[in-house]
Amino acid sequence: MTRIEKEKNIINLMINIYCNKKHRHKNGYLCNECSELLEYANKRLDFCKFGEEKKFCSKCPIHCYKKDMRVKIKEVMKFSGPRLLFHEPIEVIKHIFEK
Ligand SMILES: [Zn+2]
Repeated sequence: MTRIEKEKNIINLMINIYCNKKHRHKNGYLCNECSELLEYANKRLDFCKFGEEKKFCSKCPIHCYKKDMRVKIKEVMKFSGPRLLFHEPIEVIKHIFEK
């Protein structure tokens, strides 16, 4: 699995948890707002010019998200980050939060 694919998986998971808990949508189904955010995040990753060299988006020097999407994805990460502990191995969590 490439870094980009890995990161897509993590974001997918985070948005799923967020929508499930916050918007009461069932696992695997996202509300319009969240599926729009997911699609946007995936698109940003596809166009990320760092490619396989990239760091996790929260640490990236280039803020390629437009402002409202940035606000949303930050909220998702803040909400779902700690909850990911129950789903993902610790290495993934470290990758996200190491500074
Ligand atoms: Zn939602």
